[in-house]
Amino acid sequence: MLRLNLVIPCFNEEEVLPETTRQLLAQMDRLLADGAIGPESEITFIDDGSRDRTWQTIESLHAADPRVRGIKLSRNRGHQNALLAGLMSVQGDVVISLDADLQDDVGAIPRMLEAHRDGADVVFGVRSCRVTDTFFKRFTAQTYYKVLHSFGVEILPDHADYRLMSRRALDALRDFREVNLFLRGIIPLLGFRTAIVKYERNARFAGESKYPLHKMLAFAFDGIASFSSKPLQWSAYVGACISVGALLIGLWAIFIRLFTNLSVPGWASTVIPMYFLGGLQLLFLGVIGGYVAKIYSETKQRPRFIVETTL
Ligand code: UDP
Ligand code: MG
Repeated sequence: MLRLNLVIPCFNEEEVLPETTRQLLAQMDRLLADGAIGPESEITFIDDGSRDRTWQTIESLHAADPRVRGIKLSRNRGHQNALLAGLMSVQGDVVISLDADLQDDVGAIPRMLEAHRDGADVVFGVRSCRVTDTFFKRFTAQTYYKVLHSFGVEILPDHADYRLMSRRALDALRDFREVNLFLRGIIPLLGFRTAIVKYERNARFAGESKYPLHKMLAFAFDGIASFSSKPLQWSAYVGACISVGALLIGLWAIFIRLFTNLSVPGWASTVIPMYFLGGLQLLFLGVIGGYVAKIYSETKQRPRFIVETTL
């Protein structure tokens, strides 16, 4: 019998957990009755250092139904690390990761299991439409996918972290030791047979988003810097093009000085390139600095999560 484990990272999610648990347990009961999963299947909530009553909620849900399990991290480590903590710690033949807020449609779980039965080791949940998103989120997401694609990063558009992974795929993931985690970029690198299940993303059931803009931007840079060194190459190209341009302007200035009497001591020709190049150099120093910072955190090899208690 297939042992399923649903892995759910939670950060200040006390408002949604009871309803999420109710819906997931109901779904598991149906799957159990159909023989799609075994009786040992469970739900694991990872409390990512919440400051509200999330852990107490998980404890009481566990007391009410032992199929609900919990892992409490020693502090907030961010969504990706919390998710990894779950994926690396739980038992089960098959793990499905999803968000706590019921945005990932629970109804897609049976179809994911079906795709797994048909031989897929990784099943990606892909959103069929983004109507529940704000225009801003839709626009930035689309632009971001295009940028990633142009940098040669292989990720699946409109797939977040709603996915099924088999035990084999999880074992392979264990060998990726990186600290700057961008799971949706790593999973395609695992290989294996994959499948896609489309689902409609709901609005958040309760509470508010735990991804403010600064977290989203840091996460977006992780996605680029962890999988592509193109920005570094591009800074070299742009630098080379500007040098050639500057050389041509220099030749032109010599020509004017030697063969015409049009040369005027110029302000613009001195000051504009100075600002332009100064800005450009700072920009690319920033890009290089961003990579150096990633190397710095990778070389320290600090633990990606620390478990405080498990239920
Ligand atoms: N989350 C987490 N740690 C964090 C931030 C978020 O574990 O530091 C969890 C959160 O509880 C939720 C999931 O990550 O289960 C996705 O977060 P959210 O729904 O707030 O993001 P959004 O859907 O707005 O992008
Ligand atoms: Mg959400």
